[in-house]
Amino acid sequence: MSRKTKTYTQKDTEFRPLRLWSDLVGFDGVDETFYRLWSANRLPQVVVVDGRSGIGKRKFMARLAARFFCETHTACGSCEGCHSVQQGHQSDLYWLETEGTIKVADAEAFQEHLDYQARRGPRLAVLIDIESLNDQASNRLLKVLEEPPPGVLILASCSRFDKLLPTIRSRSVRWRVHPPLLPESTAFVKERLGPDSPGEEEIQNALKMFGLSIGRALTYLEHGSSEQKVRLDRLQRLLLLPFKGENLKEIQELLKEQAWKAPDLAQFFEVALNQSYRRILQSGGITSLQDFRRIKHWRKILQQVYRAGGIGQNNLNVQLVAEALLSPFEG
Ligand SMILES: [Zn+2]
Repeated sequence: MSRKTKTYTQKDTEFRPLRLWSDLVGFDGVDETFYRLWSANRLPQVVVVDGRSGIGKRKFMARLAARFFCETHTACGSCEGCHSVQQGHQSDLYWLETEGTIKVADAEAFQEHLDYQARRGPRLAVLIDIESLNDQASNRLLKVLEEPPPGVLILASCSRFDKLLPTIRSRSVRWRVHPPLLPESTAFVKERLGPDSPGEEEIQNALKMFGLSIGRALTYLEHGSSEQKVRLDRLQRLLLLPFKGENLKEIQELLKEQAWKAPDLAQFFEVALNQSYRRILQSGGITSLQDFRRIKHWRKILQQVYRAGGIGQNNLNVQLVAEALLSPFEG
């Protein structure tokens, strides 16, 4: 599996549009609270913003960063300070983001910049997707995470705090963020898709199917063929049904058609599983011991997928994962 390994810093022109936060959905008041705590000296120097992938964390990080440089500290989007963040010429902000693995050279540049910043005064470093650090780069950053230069705030984002190296987890504080609410997300997707937008119910189904991730739901609604949609709906329905041996073959067939990576399958499966579980609880129905054991068995596999999908080794075979999930279960 080859992945692009382009690294972006704030100087990359092609990267700038990603830093605009005007269309960020949700996160209301979160960056304000964060900034208030920081101003009151109540935050540690290393904070990891943790939330599901595709919910808008990168834009949120940009808005949060802008609060530090905005003339009114509101990330107004129209003052000189905000523009310096949007246009990537804010010299007191270091932004590191990559499409692939964050390598040791990136980590070194990050650290050097922090040393330089520290000599000049208090400033900010942002690291997008800290789980994409490879092992060497992680090790390189441990020292700076343990003892950041005085006055420097390091903000990292991640979507799976539990799969970070224990040494990184222990050196940082986790700040959990949540996906925007369903009505907000639905309205956003509807507006984004314009006149071609499907109805609200279809949008909500897509959002639920992808764990309320706006990014992934949008991709699905924009690029998924209607056939693919029918098949994914069917797949989700099959996963939601109480397990029946005769469904197994069809589930396997449907899974084969999706060009998913292992974590995509795991996430889709987890959403279906959670919905199923909630439905069982709500209906007050007593599910069999066999079903409970099966759910436990599935959760264990999902955890293994997430763990293996961690730093620098995100290459689990999706078919093997599917087979593990769907293999006959001896409860
Ligand atoms: Zn501003």
